[in-house]
Amino acid sequence: MLGERINQARKAAGLSLRGLSEHTSVTAMAISKYERNESTPSSGVLLDLAKAFGVRVEYFFRQIEVELKDIDYREKEKLPQTEETKVLADVREQLERWIALEAFLPTPWSTAYKIPTGLSAKINTYDDIENIALKVRKAWDLGIHPILDLTDMLESKGIKVFITQYDGHKHFNGLSATVNHDPVIVVGKHWPGDRQRFTLAHELGHLVVKDRLAKNMDEEKACHRFAGAFLVPRPKVLDHLGQRRTWLEPQELHSLKHEYGLSMKGWISRAIDLGILPKQHAGKVWGYFRKHGWMESEPGQRYPEEEARLFEQLVYRALAEDMVGESKAAELLNMSLVALHACRNMECYDNVVNQ
Ligand SMILES: [Zn+2]
Repeated sequence: MLGERINQARKAAGLSLRGLSEHTSVTAMAISKYERNESTPSSGVLLDLAKAFGVRVEYFFRQIEVELKDIDYREKEKLPQTEETKVLADVREQLERWIALEAFLPTPWSTAYKIPTGLSAKINTYDDIENIALKVRKAWDLGIHPILDLTDMLESKGIKVFITQYDGHKHFNGLSATVNHDPVIVVGKHWPGDRQRFTLAHELGHLVVKDRLAKNMDEEKACHRFAGAFLVPRPKVLDHLGQRRTWLEPQELHSLKHEYGLSMKGWISRAIDLGILPKQHAGKVWGYFRKHGWMESEPGQRYPEEEARLFEQLVYRALAEDMVGESKAAELLNMSLVALHACRNMECYDNVVNQ
């Protein structure tokens, strides 16, 4: 057990045996033996390892087996194996802390995830997805207005959202998976917020369109369409852009991006998908974007990144009601007791305030 945990943590940190030994006072040979459970590390060694991994010692003794199933990536074929291992190890570690927390919370502490009922069983065209997206919004009481905090909204619907720091590789956008039949969506931390939101909505698309698509339809394309339609429903696109356009001004797209959290490119796609911007005009707009290098990086202000807050909120709530003690709370939050004390006294924000 201990050996597997050390191995898992090492992979999560993206370190080789030698790399880890350079960060600690332990030899690569010794680490290899610990990982194969051929010898048992002393408590001093465990402390040393925990420090190198940025986890607490309790991590090595946690008795939770998390099995991620139905893993689906955006752009999977481009993600190298080593990156995949790091991302999955990080998600497992975050999930384990979630499940450990859930054991302390009164049940049910939240809504269980449920795909809205009344969606058509069969999707025959990409245009059908417009109505599906509207129905999901209706079932979830979202109206047709901008969704300000998408992560928070998804979490309130029983979907676990993780923002992983292991997205150094440019091909990791996000993934969806299930754990104990509950959906999990993961997005990379360093992308601009509009990109993260598109990924979140795309992954939600997978959950919604699964088993409904006609045979000739491409699921990735369908999920892209869903993402756009969910972030900005058709009536709102028509409100803002009108019925027919020959050109879209970059400033107009920039402003709409910040209103809805859908990228400028996403807005162009919406205009094309809904027949507002006909093909001959769309080519000009894309050409203009390409010429300015805006396909890779959009101009103007960056859209703020998503934040996952629910887990932390629930840890503090459990702490407030004595459902967990301080040391358990610190372990769940992956911080030292000293840091937890500072945070409880609202002192962990001093640096920010004083800047
Ligand atoms: Zn996908």
